[in-house]
Amino acid sequence: MDASRRDLGKTRLPLWAAGFVVLACAAVLAMGGWREWESRRVDLSRAEVDMANLARSLTQHADDTFDLADTILTGMVDRLETGGTEPAAIARVQTFLQQRRFNRQRIRGIFVYDDTGRWLATTEQVNLAGLNNSDRDYFQHHKASPDRGSFFGRPVKSRSGGQWIVTVSRRFNHPDGSFAGVALTTIDVSYFINFYEQFDVGANGTISLLNTNGILLARSRDKDGVYTGRDMSKAPLMRELGSRPAASVYYFKSPIDGVQRLSFYQRSSRYPIMVLATRAYDEVLANWRREAVTRAILVGALTLLIALIGFYLVRELLQGRRMAVALVAKEADFRLLAEQSSDMVTRIDLEGIILYVSPSCARVVGWSADKLLGTPALAGVHDEDRPRVERTVASLKAAETEEARIIYRTRHREKGEIWIESALHVTHASDTGAIDGVVAISRDMTEQKDLQDKLAALAISDGLTGLSNRRHFDERLADEWARARRDGTPLSLLLIDVDHFKKFNDLHGHQAGDLCLRTVATVLGAQALRPADMAARYGGEEFALLLPNTDAAGCAEVGERVRTALHAQAMPHPGNPPSRIVTVSLGAATLVPTQVVADSALLLAAADRALYCAKESGRDRLATSGQVIAWPARSA
Ligand code: GH3
Ligand code: MG
Ligand code: MG
Repeated sequence: MDASRRDLGKTRLPLWAAGFVVLACAAVLAMGGWREWESRRVDLSRAEVDMANLARSLTQHADDTFDLADTILTGMVDRLETGGTEPAAIARVQTFLQQRRFNRQRIRGIFVYDDTGRWLATTEQVNLAGLNNSDRDYFQHHKASPDRGSFFGRPVKSRSGGQWIVTVSRRFNHPDGSFAGVALTTIDVSYFINFYEQFDVGANGTISLLNTNGILLARSRDKDGVYTGRDMSKAPLMRELGSRPAASVYYFKSPIDGVQRLSFYQRSSRYPIMVLATRAYDEVLANWRREAVTRAILVGALTLLIALIGFYLVRELLQGRRMAVALVAKEADFRLLAEQSSDMVTRIDLEGIILYVSPSCARVVGWSADKLLGTPALAGVHDEDRPRVERTVASLKAAETEEARIIYRTRHREKGEIWIESALHVTHASDTGAIDGVVAISRDMTEQKDLQDKLAALAISDGLTGLSNRRHFDERLADEWARARRDGTPLSLLLIDVDHFKKFNDLHGHQAGDLCLRTVATVLGAQALRPADMAARYGGEEFALLLPNTDAAGCAEVGERVRTALHAQAMPHPGNPPSRIVTVSLGAATLVPTQVVADSALLLAAADRALYCAKESGRDRLATSGQVIAWPARSA
């Protein structure tokens, strides 16, 4: 019992339930988090792909533009080197350039300078005289370097137009290989800027064209050319460019405006340039963030709901466990009480069938509990007591009384009939409160009953003779008097006194006297024939015989029988002449109690008077009240 209580107390169900709830919450949160992380990753990688495509195609675009510039330069160099720099040849070149129609949006201008930087020819409508570009980087470069490849200069402000331009130049030589001058094409930075404007990279996205030295050639939306020409070589990307792949995704914080950006850079395979297409990190994730907040609220609410339900569930489980433990403990205590008690505890249902009986039933009624379970509780009850017991149980079931105590006889398996005392209580259903049975606590009280009976008998009998004692006689006299008065029947009384008993004692001794008194009592008892007749020791050697519903004649007849019967005993009594045997004198009285004759004392007095008469008139005879029936002394 204790072990099961401990087991019940230790059940891990609430712990498991709590664990499960925590796990479920964690799973919901983890799945929500994973889903958000995933959709964020998808948004980022989509933006990366967009930027990569953009960077690649814009690099291609830049390549094409510089290809065109380089093709023009190659043609110009060839023309200048084969045609020479004689004034006539230059004039032809100038005419060619002035007449030439080309897309000036893309290639802004073509210029030729001699070995001193003087302008020789140009597509621009300017007066060439006095213009000199020997101070320009590209000029210094070509003059100093024999390299015949094209040179990408820093963006500069055009001397002819004043706008930002990017220059591509080549050196041309004299036939002896010495420096003859520079051919130059310019591309408006605004050309790139305008082109880049067509692509939507968001409010904070940018497209930049840089040379590989980190000089910013063009930046989208930079109409005024604020950033053009800026040296970005200190930026991490540019510093690490040599060790980086030719094209890659790149996340960075812009050194220009401090905006966190997602980007893709693509280096040209043909020219020392690269395109960097970027989107603001926040803009890429703005949509995701907005939706994620909504979804996070939903997931949070769901988790909270699960947690709440789980909390209540676990609390209920804990409470249930506590109650179960308490219930088991209570049940164990009660069972211990019932099973350790020497009393038999029985629980019966409304049909009187035994639902539970404690093991002590083996001691009380001699049957084991399993033999009694399911049997009618009143099966062994004595037929005479059964109606009384049934009435008591019925009144309990009818809620007339809550408890009752009854004593009845029942059968013990071995001992036969025994006396049982049962305390009965009704039981109520725990849910409806309706009476659903009776609990009986029973004990064997046969011994007490016997003792009680003996005590009761002792209380009303005379120790020496076994007849009723004086007190009991008085009670019976009063009862019978009342009954006779009710019924209007006669009540007779015989008072009987042993003759000369003092002398008997004196002669035979006190013990013999007692024996004699017992014999007289036996004779008397034998003559009290009817159940209602009562023989009593009235005191000393005086006896009384109460004869209800007996008239004077009947009373006299009984008296005579007593006298004769004692004669038949023929106990020697020398001091009692003339018969010399033990004899008695009897006083008889008969009365029909009426309103006038109100007291039983009258009957006693009358019988006493008659007894006195019997003594006076010679003893060993019966006298009736008011008259003495003379008895011939010698007839016995
Ligand atoms: P009478 O014929 O007038 O009745 O004479 P009696 O001797 O019987 O008269 P009395 O009533 O004076 O004497 C009664 C005697 O009975 C007195 C007493 O010694 C004796 N006696 C009374 N009770 C007992 C008793 O319980 N046992 C014995 N052995 N003697 C008793
Ligand atoms: Mg006497
Ligand atoms: Mg006497």
